[in-house]
Amino acid sequence: MALRFEVLGRFNRARAAQLTLPHFVCQTPLFMPVGTQGTIKGLTNDQLEEIGCQIILGNTYHLALRPTSELLDELGGLHSFMKWPRALLTDSGGFQMVSLLHLADITEKGVTFQSPIDGKPMLLTPEESIQIQNRVGADIIMALDDVVKTTITGPRIEEAMYRTLRWIDRCVAAHKRPNEQNLFGIVQGGLDPVLRDICVRGLVERNLPGYAIGGLSGGEDKDSFWRVVAQCTAALPEDKPRYVMGVGYPLDIVVCSALGADMYDCVYPTRTARFGTALVPEGVLKLKHQAMADDTRPIDPSCSCMVCKNFSRAYIHCLVTKDAMGSQLLSYHNLYYMMKLSRDLHSSIVHEKFPEFVCKFLQKMFPKGDVPEWVCNAMEVAGIDISSCCYPISSSYDLNSYEQVRQD
Ligand SMILES: [Zn+2]
Repeated sequence: MALRFEVLGRFNRARAAQLTLPHFVCQTPLFMPVGTQGTIKGLTNDQLEEIGCQIILGNTYHLALRPTSELLDELGGLHSFMKWPRALLTDSGGFQMVSLLHLADITEKGVTFQSPIDGKPMLLTPEESIQIQNRVGADIIMALDDVVKTTITGPRIEEAMYRTLRWIDRCVAAHKRPNEQNLFGIVQGGLDPVLRDICVRGLVERNLPGYAIGGLSGGEDKDSFWRVVAQCTAALPEDKPRYVMGVGYPLDIVVCSALGADMYDCVYPTRTARFGTALVPEGVLKLKHQAMADDTRPIDPSCSCMVCKNFSRAYIHCLVTKDAMGSQLLSYHNLYYMMKLSRDLHSSIVHEKFPEFVCKFLQKMFPKGDVPEWVCNAMEVAGIDISSCCYPISSSYDLNSYEQVRQD
């Protein structure tokens, strides 16, 4: 194990922790931007440090194709290749293959796919995924899992969950650098609480350095989403980090943190920036909108980032459709927003002001008090009273129903 996880403060299920990784001492909850090929589009490493990025996520699939893991290994790993002094996390590569390549197929051996370079059939096994990630050298590496969409039902979900458990042992056995890199297991099981429970127990038995909750953010409804997160966080060990994969909407991060999750990653903040959208406390601001053309205010008057200190909405409106600088400035602001959200979550928990923070966050996003019912339900399970900032919950939802499986 190459990490230390110390909880510094709690509010019910929510926790603020210090996560010490080989390359950086991180504060959780934290958001990790996705740097597909060793770069966050349009931002320099200095800017990423200035914004407060603690961990960057690299896509193993893209890195393995270019520059290749062998070259990265030769050059001293991804840290030295991209001159990033802080922490890195790599995914297993499986998700990218399944989502990007039409002909990807999963068998017991691994993920088979057609090479995008020469069209030849290729196979990514759990052993190979770990070998590649060992060469890339990130602080946190992810087990190869059998990914299925949460919207799929039936025996395929069960097959994928059991296969994920079989593959974790192959990943652990293949891992050659356990003292320098932390292998996280991924909880699968779709929206089925029984399968999720079996998977959590199986992974916890393996005593891994950290655990991810996978297979979400795939189009499932929000109530199913938070219930899976709540079930998994309740069953995962207190002294290990919990990472919800693919989550990047600010509201989802606040809800998951209230339920006891610590880490998040998503392309959303940078992708939406490229489409001209800024994240603001009220929700989003579309800079392409004609109303921005003569708006002299900054994107977010309450934001103290470099972009908001220097530029008007009108200026960014001008750039956003014509010049790469527009999406760079928006990416900068959006990542700054995510990092500030991470810091605010951390410090409000440490300073015992978490419920107040949640209420203020919801009041800004839902000034009329129309907080979605799923948020109200999740907050009730998290033990956070938001009645001062939203309408009372109308449904008679049974708080304990989602945890019954665990108690059997
Ligand atoms: Zn800003």
